[in-house]
Amino acid sequence: MSKMKMPTNLPDPIINENAKIVLARRYQKKDTEGTVYETAKELFWRVASSIAAEEAKYDRSTVKPAALARDFYDLMTSYSFLPNSPTLMNAGTGLGQLAACFVLPVGDSIEDIFDAVKHAAMIHKSGGGTGFSFSRLRAKDSVVGSTGGVASGPLSFLRIFNCATEQIKQGGTRRGANMGILRVDHPDILEFIKAKERDGELNNFNLSIGLTEAFMRAVEKNEDYDLVAPNSATVIGSLNAREVFNILVQKAWESGDPGIVFLDRINRDNPTPTQGDIESTNPCGEQPLLPYEACNLGSINLGNCYARGHNGKDSEIDWDELRRIVHLSVRFLDNVIDASVYPLPQITEMVGKNRKIGLGVMGWADLLYQLRVPYNSQTAVDLAERVMKFVRDEARSASKQLAAERGPFPAYAESVFGEANLGPYRNATTTTIAPTGTLSIIGGCSSGVEPLFALSFVRNVMDNDKLVESNPFFEAALKEADAHSPKLMEEIAKVGTIRKMDHLPEELRRVFVTAMDIEPIWHLKMQASFQKYTDNAVSKTVNLPNSATKEEIWDIYWKAYEYGCKGVTVYRDGSKTSQVLCTGDGD
Ligand code: ADP
Repeated sequence: MSKMKMPTNLPDPIINENAKIVLARRYQKKDTEGTVYETAKELFWRVASSIAAEEAKYDRSTVKPAALARDFYDLMTSYSFLPNSPTLMNAGTGLGQLAACFVLPVGDSIEDIFDAVKHAAMIHKSGGGTGFSFSRLRAKDSVVGSTGGVASGPLSFLRIFNCATEQIKQGGTRRGANMGILRVDHPDILEFIKAKERDGELNNFNLSIGLTEAFMRAVEKNEDYDLVAPNSATVIGSLNAREVFNILVQKAWESGDPGIVFLDRINRDNPTPTQGDIESTNPCGEQPLLPYEACNLGSINLGNCYARGHNGKDSEIDWDELRRIVHLSVRFLDNVIDASVYPLPQITEMVGKNRKIGLGVMGWADLLYQLRVPYNSQTAVDLAERVMKFVRDEARSASKQLAAERGPFPAYAESVFGEANLGPYRNATTTTIAPTGTLSIIGGCSSGVEPLFALSFVRNVMDNDKLVESNPFFEAALKEADAHSPKLMEEIAKVGTIRKMDHLPEELRRVFVTAMDIEPIWHLKMQASFQKYTDNAVSKTVNLPNSATKEEIWDIYWKAYEYGCKGVTVYRDGSKTSQVLCTGDGD
């Protein structure tokens, strides 16, 4: 496809200081010496123009590529929407691998296992993260027919995947990230639950236990449940469900790992069940996928969708602006599928059939600050549901519009939408809430649907200068209340929160809460609210203070089940020194 010329009147993007560093290090193009030769403006134009150029191949398209390129450029440089990192890195460069999320099958043979290792390496090289279910591998010590020996089990192979990942750095900067899942009824489940008990072990993996409805019912009734040999589908033992749940909770309390995913619930929402079961998610858990499926994500910055009311009163969400952003973003993400070149033909085929996209949100805490609604309130939880319902409805309506122009996703007829005569849609799924580890740095906004970690903190800059950095909405509110001073900001930077600063107005202390001020239950309620109207899943960590008890974690895991979440991850402050990085410094 020929390159679109950059318009002479294209405005320069405004880039915040942290974004400048991240963009130069990771996203702007470099020559063989490692010298950056692409400006940030050229980067955003490269992405905007190459994604808009895909429009040209659709006869019935309602938009012109050149005008669309400008719209995409403005959308990204206003930080109202950003596509996932691989799209920013690779679009228009000839590399063409633009998706962040992949799931690969791991079959029960040496050939299949090492194919998966190789395929994961290829995906990591291109900037994507991979998820695997190890549930099909026969248990440790079961017989191997061809050699008469005994199998070494899922855990031993998982270590090979971990090691391979360690050696492949992505684009010279970031190491790959993986998700490893084992069904709770696999005979090696106890070993798997304990796999990360030593610090640093399997550090390129997040682990999750695949829980089933049958297991959760057995926990409730304090009964035993069956362990099933995957290679023969026979019951080879049983365990007490509550005891297993207890060990799971103990390990999560110790180190944050493993998390849990509710497999039956994920499959209840599988839009294309005729293509098989969903066994795994991507590394951070927000994107369940079929084996060999990939998905590209993108996130809307809700902080930009605030409408200040008259006289500072009756502030609201700017719904018209949000609608505009959603429609443009869905077109962007659908075009990304066409612009992508995947590392394996099986992936090209699966993505081509279902055309899943994952539009989500970031800047949620920033929006709440502007609206003066505390994160830990029923008002915020209700608003989350309203916002996400709006995003999902508009995303589906945009996907319908694209189906009219381009046809539905090829597997539509056999999908749940086809059978129920809903649609047709262009995409089997449209919504996913990602962590936005790096995107939120580029956008200068709060990440995903998480609360802020600190209102103000000290950043060490290169020549040992210390800079106090604060949330802009918090600073504005302090100024409005005549309470802002450099000394106060330094004080706040020491603790991150203003909860105990009695001299500050009560209203500010109520609204400007941080992750550590929020009771765990609000984290979970917020996750459940967003999940209600998200096709795929929600990336969210329930943050707990160091003093949190095992009973509290049990309660969170159980409530995640009751509230209808698709999974949950907890993190107890100070319980882990290293973790799989999905953030700006993932190298
Ligand atoms: P970003 O902000 O860089 O776009 P997110 O933090 O939103 O990324 O993560 C989204 C998904 O991108 C993750 O769930 C994972 O699939 C993939 N991903 C994130 N970090 C990495 C990494 N270091 N290596 C490989 N994949 C990653």
